[in-house]
Amino acid sequence: MGSLIEMRSSRFRCSLEAVLEHLDARQLSWCFMAPPPVRFTTQGPVRGPCSHKHKNLESAADCLGEDEALCFTRGKHTDREIFVLEGPSRRKLTPAEAQAVQEHLRRQSAGR
Ligand SMILES: [Zn+2]
Repeated sequence: MGSLIEMRSSRFRCSLEAVLEHLDARQLSWCFMAPPPVRFTTQGPVRGPCSHKHKNLESAADCLGEDEALCFTRGKHTDREIFVLEGPSRRKLTPAEAQAVQEHLRRQSAGR
């Protein structure tokens, strides 16, 4: 019985090693660490930041739309754009995300 358990545990160890062998360090850290929270914010050179940490792209798009509406009453456009906050780093929207924002805003303005 003892040898069977030993055999099983050694086989388990082997298969675990085989799994680990096929993962690189980056994948491992992805497995063991919680992914960084993704947040969205808006900022422009003139308008400055909205200082929010929006939990989703739609919420950031709404915020951008409100700022645009405010600027539009003064005959101007907002220069803010949406940034994606991924942990300590930030990035601009991908073309697909930017398109989703435009479609969201178009739907919102059509609903008004
Ligand atoms: Zn905002």
